[in-house]
This record gives sequence, structure tokens and C-alpha cells, in this order.
Amino acid sequence: MAKAFDVIVIGGGPAGYVAAIRCSQLGMTTAVVDDFVYKDGEPALGGTCLNVGCIPSKALLDSSEQYHKVNHELEAHGIKTGKVQLDVGAMIARKDRVVKDLTGGIAQLFKANKIEWLKGHGKLLSGKQVEVTPADGSGKAEVYQAEHVIIATGSKPIDIDAAPLDGERIVNSDGALEFTDVPKRLGIIGAGVIGLEMGSVWSRLGSKVTLLEAQDTFLPPVDQRVAKMAQKEFERQGLDIRFGARVTNAKVGKTVSVHYEDKDGKQNIQVDKLIVCVGRRPNTGNLFAEDVDLLLDERGLVNVDEHCRTNLPGVYAIGDVVRGPMLAHKGSEEGVMVAELIAGRPGHVNYDTIPWVIYTHPEIAWAGKTEQQLKAAGVPFNSGTFNFGATGRARAMEEKAGMVKIIAHKETDRILGVHIVGPQASELIAEAVVAMEFHASSEDLARIIHAHPTLSEAMHEAALSVSKRAIHKAN
Ligand code: FAD
Ligand code: AMP
Repeated sequence: MAKAFDVIVIGGGPAGYVAAIRCSQLGMTTAVVDDFVYKDGEPALGGTCLNVGCIPSKALLDSSEQYHKVNHELEAHGIKTGKVQLDVGAMIARKDRVVKDLTGGIAQLFKANKIEWLKGHGKLLSGKQVEVTPADGSGKAEVYQAEHVIIATGSKPIDIDAAPLDGERIVNSDGALEFTDVPKRLGIIGAGVIGLEMGSVWSRLGSKVTLLEAQDTFLPPVDQRVAKMAQKEFERQGLDIRFGARVTNAKVGKTVSVHYEDKDGKQNIQVDKLIVCVGRRPNTGNLFAEDVDLLLDERGLVNVDEHCRTNLPGVYAIGDVVRGPMLAHKGSEEGVMVAELIAGRPGHVNYDTIPWVIYTHPEIAWAGKTEQQLKAAGVPFNSGTFNFGATGRARAMEEKAGMVKIIAHKETDRILGVHIVGPQASELIAEAVVAMEFHASSEDLARIIHAHPTLSEAMHEAALSVSKRAIHKAN
């Protein structure tokens, strides 16, 4: 008879492993099937986020920021440095250690929570059975029985025919985390979140970076005033962002010859490396047997309702493999919600207050609606802004670029969106999320005492500015 669990989770990324831990906390016997194998050949938990996504990219963003600071920013503080040397190998090795420590930590948490880690590829069979095939091809497939199944198989980079990966010169985001030296000229297809983060890393380390973006608008999901301010900063830093540039062909020779078309016709650039960052698609390949009638939507995502229930009773799906933003914390919250629902408790995710962050310099972070969304929906609003350059703390830090923008409903004053471009935007956005979760008005934020001197004073002043009473600006 097949070994049985209360819950089997397919996929051990931030959606799946968090769901599993919460299921175990709630007293359910739980197993996680995961097929990820790290570059050292070892199976690893944590999925895209810990192995080739959020964590390694942030490790390299932080290292490259330190390098850039020493070379370009310390002098303003009266600190003179000697010759600064870069050891890309050591930088990548540090990133690998951070990843290994964290993925090892998840394995420890699994032990502590008595979660069984089934290493291999999971396939949903009829009757909530899950077949697990060892990832390395050794051994035969085993079948397990579940009371409930949670699909958390995540996503992978989209490839385009115009620029086929060769693993050396043309790579995707996985490969961009593994360069052994700094490419002189770096091309990036797609000026979205991942393209901008990767471009920032290698540009700070010395690459001449060109981003080719098919759309005419910079970061369409971002409030356009914030996006414009960010674009100016990135261009000042040397990122060459070309809009309306559709890549038609990339050929590897001594260099990579990238052909694209824009409003002026056919164009060509030569680069030493090319990163393809044109988005991600859900992992649903070989995920369910032919006789399993799991419904996918028109984009190939597993179709779910607001509680992440699929069309099959007892089968849920969470994270990047379902609708909504492809963000780690969104998947994790869905994981907690589903665990609670399976345990017969109330579970809920507020999709309206999910914070987004782009970890460039300055950082971009937002929650809630943008001005362009509200205009399109015909919602009346007031907005207030405040520049970091007018705060004492940002000036003391030599971090003058950026602003906070708060949008509130014209009649009720309820905060509808908060948009930040500037230093530590990723941390500051948490205040906005708390405020929005508690249905705060801009008046509530305006009346809260913020410590001086802090960057959070820009939030306070932006809230005051909604009703034209910011102190350190002419309203
Ligand atoms: P994943 O993390 O993709 O995990 C799914 C796991 O399931 C993987 O281990 C996969 O191998 C495994 N799997 C798939 N199919 C099967 C199967 N049939 N059987 C067994 N196992 C299977 N998000 C943020 O919130 N913040 C960031 O800063 C951020 N930075 C990013 C930077 C980069 C470069 C990239 C690529 C992504 C980044 N993301 C970030 C996105 C984030 O990584 C994803 O949103 C998140 O990992 C999704 O979690 P998940 O658990 O749904 O899926
Ligand atoms: P994101 O969705 O944030 O990962 O960003 C991916 C970006 O890649 C989007 O802004 C797309 O417009 C862009 N993109 C997709 N295909 C192409 C292409 N062939 N050439 C240039 N840019 C592209």
C-alpha cells in the first residue's frame, strides 16, 4: 500500500516550504516533493527564490553596492581609499555560501517539523496520489497517497527563439548570477524587474550595460511619476535603456551580435554577454497524469479561486504557478492560507496590499493602486509627495534622490496606494502595508509621530502633503 500523508506539497520554494511548515504546525503529517538540484549536484530546498532568485540576486546587489560605494561614494564622506581590487570569484563564492546556509536552514526546519523531503519530480495521479521520480534518474518511481495536495511548482525563465541560450555568452537570470568576470559590454533583453536588478549588479562592477525593452513605457506596473524619477537616476548611473526595441536575432561569434528593431528601423549592438530577462512562465510540465483533469487558465497557470482551490477537490495551488504577482512573499502567504483552510480554520490573503520591491539603487517599492490605475477606474483621489532630498537623514546619508508619493481617496481619505523611489524603500514600504491593512487614512499617517532624523519622515511629510500641509516643502 502507498505510504500516506495528510498533505503532500509538490514544490519546495517559498510557497511550498512555508505551506508545509504551517501544515505540520497544525498537526498534519506532511511531505514535500522537490526536484531542484543546486549547481554542486546536491538537491536543495528553497526553490527559485533561495537558489537562483531573490537571495543570490540580493547577495550580489549588496556586494556590488559595496564596491561601487568604495569607488565612487566614500570620497564625499571625506574617506580616501587606495587602489580597490575586485575578486569576482570571491563575490560569487560569498553569494553561494549565503544560499547554502539558507537552503540548509530549510532542511533543518523540515527535520524539526518532521516534514518528509521526497527528492524528485512529483506528478499528480488520480485519487490524490503523487508519483515521485528521483531527480537524478536513479531508482524507480514511488507512489504516495495524500488526503490533500498542494501544488507549488513555481516558474522558470521564458526563452525566446530570437536569442537561444548557449549557457556561456547568452544566458538567463540563472546564468547572470554565475559570471566569472565582468563583461565589458553587457546586453540585457527586457528592462523589467529582473533585468534592472541584474543590470545594476554588473554595471556597478564596471560593465557597460544596454537594456533592450520591447515596450515604450518604463515599468508599466509602477506609478509613472516614480518610474520616471527612477529612469532618470538609472540613466544617470550609465544604464542605457532603449525602448520600443524588439530583439529579432542574437548570434554568438567572437562577441554576441544582437539585432533589434525600433521606430527607426533595424539596429545592431555588439556585446560580450547577453542576458535574456523577458519574464517567467509556470512550471506545469509533466505535473499531472493524462487522466487528471486539472484546469489551467489561458496563460498556462493552474486555475484557482481566491482561496487557491483548483477544480479538483482537495487539490490546491499556490505561488508562481497561479495568478497574481510572481513574488516570494505572495506565495508564502498563500501557503499559510491553504494550510489554515485544510485545518478547518479561516484563511485569507489580501491581494490588495502585497508590497512590491525592485532592489535597484535607488530602490523602488509600492503597495496598492497607482495613479494611472485609479484614473482609469475613475476613482477620485488626492495625492501628496515628498522628496528625500528635503529630509535631514537622507542628506546626512548622501542619498538625496527619490521621493514618497501617497494617494488617498478624495472623499474618505483612505490610503489607496503608496509609491516610493529612494533609499531603503524596501523597508519603508512596510509602514504603508500596515497602514493600508488597518484601512488608515492619510490623516492617520500624518498624525503618527515619526522619529527624527529618519527616512520615514518622508512618509510622514508625504501624508501631510496630501492635505497640503507638509512642513518642509512649499505646498
Ligand atoms: P519556486 O521558488 O519556483 O519553487 C518551486 C520549486 O518546485 C522549485 O524548487 C522547482 O524545482 C520545484 N518543482 C517544479 N516542478 C516540480 C515537480 N513537478 N516536482 C517536484 N518539484 C518541482 N521575488 C521576491 O518576492 N523578491 C525578490 O527579491 C525576488 N527576486 C528575484 C530575483 C530573480 C533573479 C528571480 C528569478 C526571481 C525573483 N523573485 C523575487 C521571484 C521569486 O523567486 C518567486 O516569486 C518565488 O520563488 C516563487 O515561489 P514558488 O514557491 O511559487 O516557486
Ligand atoms: P518582467 O515581466 O518584469 O520580468 O519583465 C520582462 C520584460 O521583458 C517586459 O518589460 C517585456 O516587455 C520585455 N520583453 C519581452 N520580450 C521582449 C523582446 N523580444 N525584446 C525586448 N524586450 C522584451
